[in-house]
Amino acid sequence: MPPPTKPISQEELTAKVREFPVIYGASIVGITSVETLAGGPPTTDLSYVLEGARSAVTFAVPTDADKTRDYLGKVDRAGHQQDYTKTSIIADGIAAQLASFIRQFGHETTAVMQNLVFRNDKPGDLNHRTPDISHRYLAVRGGVGWFGFSGNVLTPDHGPNVILVSVVTAAELIPTDPLPPEDNYCDDCQACNTACPSGFFRHGKKNKVTVTMGGVDFTYTERRSYDRCSYVCSGCTGLHSSGQWSTWSPARFPIPKEDEHLLPIYKKVAFKAWSERPELPGGGMQSPITFSKTKRDVTLTCGNCMHVCHPDKKERERRVKLLQEGGVIIQQEDGSLQSVSAEEARAHVAAMDPEQRALYEPADPESYDPKLYFGVKNHSQYGREGGGATSLPSETEDLDAARFGNVKQDDPMIDR
Ligand code: SF4
Ligand code: SF4
Repeated sequence: MPPPTKPISQEELTAKVREFPVIYGASIVGITSVETLAGGPPTTDLSYVLEGARSAVTFAVPTDADKTRDYLGKVDRAGHQQDYTKTSIIADGIAAQLASFIRQFGHETTAVMQNLVFRNDKPGDLNHRTPDISHRYLAVRGGVGWFGFSGNVLTPDHGPNVILVSVVTAAELIPTDPLPPEDNYCDDCQACNTACPSGFFRHGKKNKVTVTMGGVDFTYTERRSYDRCSYVCSGCTGLHSSGQWSTWSPARFPIPKEDEHLLPIYKKVAFKAWSERPELPGGGMQSPITFSKTKRDVTLTCGNCMHVCHPDKKERERRVKLLQEGGVIIQQEDGSLQSVSAEEARAHVAAMDPEQRALYEPADPESYDPKLYFGVKNHSQYGREGGGATSLPSETEDLDAARFGNVKQDDPMIDR
């Protein structure tokens, strides 16, 4: 059946798809093609989502900066959660509209949702999460943003505080160039690393990952196990190893220094406690995988590496300060959250009966060797007469220095 529209030229269709998302709220748009993505990772294979695909349109829709700041400062979690969800739905909606628009010019087209859609290439393995298409890779190749140190996509106006989404089409669109690398505002400031309680990012000149797409190289820092981010970002734990600030998670399970020790504490201990704690108020993201395992939604508690990063360096510093001076989250019995001082938070957990306390920190702290785990000294019973952790050796090393490895020692953004 012929399309309901009059044919238009490749140039006209390309100009229209670049303009379309911006009209509805996107801040920047890029186009990639099978040729400009050639040689990229498997998640740049457009044919995985559409047979005969030739091009993709990727765009960024910014989230609300005020809500991000209130979230970082632990003033308001729900406001950012709702904004993040609403912005994601707007991004998905623009993608669906754009896909319909292109289809009516006679080209098979599909929208790829911004998140929570994964390949079924290891059926039954719920921890194996490869997205259908990587919006990140398409974004940097098409000129939506640059990779920062963190590997997040930094857009020129909003940094990584955007929702990325793509539309894949059989139409032959004219691809756009990557942004000039010399304009990348990432100056290796380490705010993202400082803001990450999980120690997800490696730092060092050799710890880099390079991805080549269409003959162009893109580099960011090597990441450790994705379960490391997931452990913190999912809310299973959230207290920074300094004990002075936290994410929005009220839990304080220790964080293994080596990835090999991660899964036992994450999956067998902290995840179980997470699924038995009262749910965080304010709603969450609708993740089919998480719901299938726990009958719960995914509530945002971290994302700090994105939130502290901003094109304006002074603003980055302000955001790190908000995070570090925003206190420690505790949870009341009715599930409500409160930000209090480090000392009050510790006293709050210490006052719980052992069964309730086990929902927030290990019931058997002596099982966690401070040489192998960050944050053991933050256990509410640490050093107490008759407490479960009195036999623990004291932690003499500088935890942050150990975690951040060879980070520049004179960098004021790194807290120690
Ligand atoms: S926070 Fe700093 S180091 Fe991290 S990506 Fe942003 S600019 Fe780069
Ligand atoms: S989301 Fe949180 S835990 Fe995950 S890498 Fe970013 S800062 Fe680290």
